[in-house]
Amino acid sequence: MGASTVPVPVPVPVPVPQPVRVRLDDPAYHELARSFRGSLVRAGDAPYEERRRIWNGAIDRHPALIAPCTGSADVVAALKWAVETGAPVAVRGGGHSFPGHSVCDGGVVIDLSAMKEIRVDPEARTARVGAGALLGELDAATQPFGLAVPSGIVTHTGVAGLTLGGGIGWLSRKYGMSVDQLLSVDLVTAGGERVTAGAAHEPELFWGMRGAGGNFGIVTEFTFRLNPVGPTVLAGPVLWPVEDSPQVMRFYRDWIAGAPDELTTIVIHRKAPPSPALPPELHGRPVVMVIACWVGEPEAGEEVMRPMREFGRPLLDLCRPKPYLAHQAMFDPSFPHGWRYYFRGCGLDRLDDGALDVMARYAGRIASPQSGFPLFQLGGAVARVGEDDTAASGRSLGHMLNINGIREAPEGFDEERGWVREFWSAMQPYQAGVYVNFLMDEGEQRIRLAYGSRERKLERLRALKAEWDPGNVFRLNQNIPPADA
Ligand code: FAD
Repeated sequence: MGASTVPVPVPVPVPVPQPVRVRLDDPAYHELARSFRGSLVRAGDAPYEERRRIWNGAIDRHPALIAPCTGSADVVAALKWAVETGAPVAVRGGGHSFPGHSVCDGGVVIDLSAMKEIRVDPEARTARVGAGALLGELDAATQPFGLAVPSGIVTHTGVAGLTLGGGIGWLSRKYGMSVDQLLSVDLVTAGGERVTAGAAHEPELFWGMRGAGGNFGIVTEFTFRLNPVGPTVLAGPVLWPVEDSPQVMRFYRDWIAGAPDELTTIVIHRKAPPSPALPPELHGRPVVMVIACWVGEPEAGEEVMRPMREFGRPLLDLCRPKPYLAHQAMFDPSFPHGWRYYFRGCGLDRLDDGALDVMARYAGRIASPQSGFPLFQLGGAVARVGEDDTAASGRSLGHMLNINGIREAPEGFDEERGWVREFWSAMQPYQAGVYVNFLMDEGEQRIRLAYGSRERKLERLRALKAEWDPGNVFRLNQNIPPADA
């Protein structure tokens, strides 16, 4: 398929609820302040500026109230107050929503980030995880037992938002998406009720929570199944000059066809970062990196990996046995808090020549030292779960692309956004799906696509929404509107 010139799309505005004037001097607020165990933060309070910030420094919103919850009782109290007041409700787990859904203007932020308790039962191979836990905190609690939950690739991302949208990363092909290892969730509903949803109790709600979870309630605790991982994995990047991208990517495509589930790879085109792991002469040089993570017998992994490592003339090969925890943290320095980020994503069924040519072309136009585009390999265990078994969709996709426009400071950020949009548009002929966790505010149509092209899946989600949140209290998210009464 050849890529034709595609017009740069005009972003479709999503209807954003108008901020209401929240009264912080009336009896209802005083009642909340009396019962709330955390320290409420209002505009003008000392911690306000810091607490309203989220990971993406391009988002600058001013909530009326930040409610840092210490447990589910605080969640119930803050939510009840918000509903009675009519204030928009933003829910914050790890604060890593690309479009900044975890903070709002004029409303209340229900901030779960302090609810980090993690209880691992190594015998039962389960973990109960507070809604404020970050991926690295979960891994740190489970890895001493040689266990892990499949999650994402940057350790300071929140378990909550990532899981509720699906969750893909280094263990996906072996153990599926994060939602595939989720056993149950404890949540607070829009009506302030505490409910546990799992296979045996509220199974329909549990189905919806696994992929569209932010729409139906506020999760206070997750229970995951744990799987054997590491603690040592065979992992790391092999780097080639970006000019070699067309050949490397064509070889890569053939190499991963039929690869065992133990292997998950991510390919990144970017300028090599100034990492101490890389020789200084490579810093800033545009490269293509194939990064592997082999979760299995190391000898078998060496065999599987060899052809890729020997292809062409790599600049550097850093693939070796290392702690899973170290591999998980590999990208952390590339995505620090407070920089400006504009990301767009799309699923791909396969790597057509035309798609690879577009990637090579836009790799050659990367201006920022930080911008790049990770291409996640899917398949394996992700694809063995049925499309209708969870709200999370895109089970049969081969790859997920995430185009990252990044600038440390405002200067040059508009140009990065332009590069991302143009690149994303040029990929349109090859796009096959939408991953809800990689959406910006892209409009209703894109949210529909995130739940598959099957209309009945969206209808099922809308019916669930009408049952659990008919007033659309939870609307600052990739929103599923309630089915019409
Ligand atoms: P938040 O901004 O706190 O929340 C995001 C959304 O989830 C909001 O709409 C919020 O309302 C809702 N939400 C949060 N907590 C709750 C809760 N307890 N109950 C109900 N709703 C809640 N995704 C992947 O799959 N794989 C990756 O490898 C990956 N890497 C990433 C790396 C970075 C640096 C970033 C920024 C994101 C990455 N993502 C990845 C995307 C990530 O899954 C989403 O951004 C996700 O929403 C982040 O979750 P959070 O809890 O940090 O975010």
